[in-house]
Amino acid sequence: MPLAATVLHLGSQHSISADRFYTVTVEVRTVRSLLRFLPPTVHIKVGGVELRSVLHRRRACHNVAIPAVGRELIAGITVSASVAVQTIRILRIDQKDSLGALMILSPHPDDAELAAGGLYMDRCRDVSIVTLSSGDRIDNISSQYVRGLDKNLVDASARKATIRSWNSVHTPSLVGVPVSRCVNLGLPDSYLMQIATGKVPPVAASRHKAICRSFNAVSMPGDDAKVPTHGATVGDLCHLIELWRPATLILMDPEIDVHRDHRASSLLVADALERCSHRPETVLLCSVHHRNRLLSHPGRAFDAGYTASEADRNDRFFAEVENYVHVLSDESIKRKALLLESMCELTHRRMRAANFFLSIIRLDFRFLWNSVGGDRHIYYNRFLRRTEFFRSVKTKHFIDAVRCHRSKFQ
Ligand SMILES: [Zn+2]
Repeated sequence: MPLAATVLHLGSQHSISADRFYTVTVEVRTVRSLLRFLPPTVHIKVGGVELRSVLHRRRACHNVAIPAVGRELIAGITVSASVAVQTIRILRIDQKDSLGALMILSPHPDDAELAAGGLYMDRCRDVSIVTLSSGDRIDNISSQYVRGLDKNLVDASARKATIRSWNSVHTPSLVGVPVSRCVNLGLPDSYLMQIATGKVPPVAASRHKAICRSFNAVSMPGDDAKVPTHGATVGDLCHLIELWRPATLILMDPEIDVHRDHRASSLLVADALERCSHRPETVLLCSVHHRNRLLSHPGRAFDAGYTASEADRNDRFFAEVENYVHVLSDESIKRKALLLESMCELTHRRMRAANFFLSIIRLDFRFLWNSVGGDRHIYYNRFLRRTEFFRSVKTKHFIDAVRCHRSKFQ
């Protein structure tokens, strides 16, 4: 029977402390209806936070994660829903402990901002950001940022590596992260899996490393290495983890994120953690490139962001996974927009044109009614949201899972 509005109360199976923080995940099931051409919408309110979620009409089951203080949770969760919703239940409640010092491992310049820009701006004095690749990949001379600037791909690639690695080190200072806490390793874009599996990328592919590292305020053991081998990269990561001693690492989720460089970055960090004298307590897994990007990002700016569901997982590699969600205020969402706007790759006009044509091919016309950032890169729509979603695992479980299932992550 369809629901118009309801209040979910906790059953006796949940023991909740009034003063602790939790992430509650609500499961929403939808039914086929004559109105199925309209996307179902739910509003979930817990305490002072209210989330608007647009659900994808081609999926029957959706998850929405929302944070709450225990006493707000005990008071009940109010859900208002469109007629296309059949059942709503509390799927899980995860306790949210303090994160401590954060270190974000970003495979490319802009991944940290997309997946965790809101979280890092709210904790800017306690954050370090390590970007692995220079983001120098350019397949066609017509794709360079300034048309006609360079005449060949080698020069255009160097130009791209320069501005994107500069972005990765300096853009976070826009929201208060010190430049001295951001580094770029200058690894060649698209070669991270080669490095993670012990193969050596061609010398030519690594030619921008010195330019990229020239922006770093800290030196690393691999600064003078000509080619970024597995050993040199893991040594640099290990050095940075021991230098900044994070309590929590933010990595790309190798179970959900399908980009090879993203999965490779998590493998490299797992190898570094095996060697480190410092071990962070927790790993927060985030994702940028989901298996089904359209199904994962319904709605528009200021709506609730992506929450993983069973359908998004490739397999069950990690033990004792908990959900963790960070909520952004209106002001934080607007500041995140400035972060994304400062990233050259996301404001590149040719990319916008490419995304327009992709929208037509995929019959996805959200850009037409997306009033905030509708004229921008499609990633503005996907990530300029009220929530940032992470899956939390203990570092030991993360390392064990990578060790056991390494071939499946490659
Ligand atoms: Zn990336």
